[in-house]
Amino acid sequence: MSRLLILYTGGTIGMRPSPAGYVPGDGFAERLATQLAAHGGQALPAYRLVEMTPAIDSANLEPETWNRLVEVLARHWADHDGVVILHGTDTLAYTASALSFMLGALDKPVVLTGAQIPLGQPRSDAPGNLALAMQSAAHPAAPREVCLAFHDRLLRGNRARKVDSLALAAFDSPNAPWLGRAGIELQLETASALPAGRPDFKPAAFESGRVALLHCHPGLSHRLVASLLEDPELQGLVLLSYGAGNPPGLSGGLIACLERATARGMAIVNLTQCHRGSVRQGTYASGATLKDAGVIAGQDLTPEAALTKLQVLLGRGLHGAALREAMATPLRGEMTAPAAD
Ligand code: ASP
Repeated sequence: MSRLLILYTGGTIGMRPSPAGYVPGDGFAERLATQLAAHGGQALPAYRLVEMTPAIDSANLEPETWNRLVEVLARHWADHDGVVILHGTDTLAYTASALSFMLGALDKPVVLTGAQIPLGQPRSDAPGNLALAMQSAAHPAAPREVCLAFHDRLLRGNRARKVDSLALAAFDSPNAPWLGRAGIELQLETASALPAGRPDFKPAAFESGRVALLHCHPGLSHRLVASLLEDPELQGLVLLSYGAGNPPGLSGGLIACLERATARGMAIVNLTQCHRGSVRQGTYASGATLKDAGVIAGQDLTPEAALTKLQVLLGRGLHGAALREAMATPLRGEMTAPAAD
């Protein structure tokens, strides 16, 4: 029978109630075994549990954690048929994206999951999410890539977003079909499978302050934009513009700032604020100016994927033209390839 590595990082799935609200709890290995035994665990794949210490609320996650996860995966990769990572839901989509870019091609599935209600609490979604993640990670036809399993959905990790803060169906991939769905049977989508290969376990040199996100809105001040873009540490920016990729003019101020930043070598990626869809920088005159300013059309990337892709590529030493080129190219199925001009 397939043997899985379960890597526990923290999050609601393993938390306990406290007077101050949910906090990371102890004794996770025992609680996991008890709950799995009570929910058909005998029929689930065998597993070995590795716990990251301390277990964290994923709201406190820093990119260095991604290096720690990759290091654990490297150590245990050869001995397991698949991996399940238990993680808080707040930054689950960021970690799924970051791991997809760090690891590259995979020869085994890596499936992340978590829960909205802790294991052992009434109506907890943890047993169902765990079973889905474990069955997916052990399935012979499972996609060899970083996936996110949640509430009967198997999603491409770098396409996933937390779309609901309260519902149990908390994740979706608005711009990509699901990789699988669980009804009575687990149905896997194999048509869009990524090419398999040996993963890359190299760490990335993460430094805070190198990337930022700018959400455009009426009333955005030129002064604030200028101070952000002139920050000497900043090397990558995700611009969340309106609709099909249209920025506000700020009386020419925004474009001038963006032009100066790209001339200094910054990678600026334009995404839409819309929940679904892609940017088309040439549709309106306001968007066409971005192209002239050297801004990269981020197509249908999620903000989580764009930010982590920038962080991982910068952390692997990419800069200037090479960074911009990689940001405009799909690396791990994270974006639809741009149409040829
Ligand atoms: N704050 C928690 C975390 O991300 C939320 C959760 O897991 O659902 O760790």
